[in-house]
Amino acid sequence: MQKNLCLTGCRSLSQLAELPETHQLLRQTCRDYADRELAPIAAKLDKEHVYPAKQVKELGAMGVMAMEVPEELGGAGMDCLAYSLAMEEISRGCASTGVSLYIGPVLKFGTEEQKKQWITPFTTGEKVGCFALSEPGNGSDAGAASTVARQEGEEWVLNGTKAWITNCWDASATGISTFLIPMPHPGLSLGKKEDKLGIRASSTANIILEDCRIPLNNMLGPRGAGFKIAMQTLDSGRIGIASQALGIAQASLDCAADYAHKRTAFGAPIGKLQAIQEAAMAKLAASEAATFCSHQVTKHMNNRGLKHNQSSDQVNVLFVLFCILNQAIQILGGMGYVTDMPAERHYRDARITEIYEGTSEIQRLVIAGQILKEYQS
Ligand SMILES: Cc1cc2nc3c(=O)[nH]c(=O)nc-3n(C[C@H](O)[C@H](O)[C@H](O)COP(=O)(O)OP(=O)(O)OC[C@H]3O[C@@H](n4cnc5c(N)ncnc54)[C@H](O)[C@@H]3O)c2cc1C
Repeated sequence: MQKNLCLTGCRSLSQLAELPETHQLLRQTCRDYADRELAPIAAKLDKEHVYPAKQVKELGAMGVMAMEVPEELGGAGMDCLAYSLAMEEISRGCASTGVSLYIGPVLKFGTEEQKKQWITPFTTGEKVGCFALSEPGNGSDAGAASTVARQEGEEWVLNGTKAWITNCWDASATGISTFLIPMPHPGLSLGKKEDKLGIRASSTANIILEDCRIPLNNMLGPRGAGFKIAMQTLDSGRIGIASQALGIAQASLDCAADYAHKRTAFGAPIGKLQAIQEAAMAKLAASEAATFCSHQVTKHMNNRGLKHNQSSDQVNVLFVLFCILNQAIQILGGMGYVTDMPAERHYRDARITEIYEGTSEIQRLVIAGQILKEYQS
């Protein structure tokens, strides 16, 4: 197991962002769990493509699966910053497990009845949901969705295929555009599990809908509001993605720092070599800056409510983090390139954060659009 060693004896990250006491406690609890239960098995889960069902249930029992859900619905009743910290620490132990800490749109758009039905059973980790927006013919261009819903009496009848849906093999429910579907369900079938570069312990597959019938009240939000709901769900999700990337980068930083202490070259630990120290310093500075930026953005979201540009800004964090992950492999030399050490898995796991919940190119378009709008007003 990697310890949280730093070459420079840096301040702890929680000091940097001046987290409230409750959040520091939460962070430490998640960190301890990740070190004890996730980091030691992450490589095996990755290699064997095994969904961490037991661990997800344990996280549910700890309240971590439903950070922002009010206590009366079975959640932890905390805030977006708490969700972000939990995601960061859990992903530090195992990025595939972090994927399950997903916040869906039901909390924001559901009726009281829908919240009871579609949130409470998911807070324990016994059930997980999935969010199905992408299709084989359109990912970035989500507005071009071709799945159709027609009303027949007291039911919606859904037809179409949703692509790349995370956790769908392990899920008990899905929101398709603005529809909620229990799983398994007649008319809903799953495609083959994709053989992925990273986050291999989470399942990803197509969802095929063939005359899939659901009650009329399984529509989420008003009729025709599906695109807006999907976009707002992605905005919240992007906080999770940036937090996940932070956690993975921190794991790679720990791994590289630990190795730099132990590995010797020219008669001394490589951590004493100037080039390695420079690389480590750069990694550390980047990590601290990214963490600070991420926490500040999340705090703004807590205080002022969700704004489009804030969540897009958060995605900038990813750019910095890839420098960190790349350098970690470099510090490990040949050992960075093989599966004996976790650095190569961190690199593979992190790559998805530049694709799902909107590619980096799309994020840049959103950010540019926002900046131009601010200049015009
Ligand atoms: C492991 C994994 C898990 C996923 N999980 C989910 C999930 O749970 N739910 C879900 O709905 N989807 C999920 N996705 C799908 C993911 O969101 C899409 O893959 C992503 O949005 C990109 O869509 P695409 O693959 O169709 O690529 P495309 O949209 O075809 O894009 C291809 C390339 O063109 C670029 N591009 C497209 N439009 C523009 C533009 N206007 N300007 C500049 N460049 C552009 C893109 O940035 C990209 O580089 C997942 C994908 C993966 C790989």
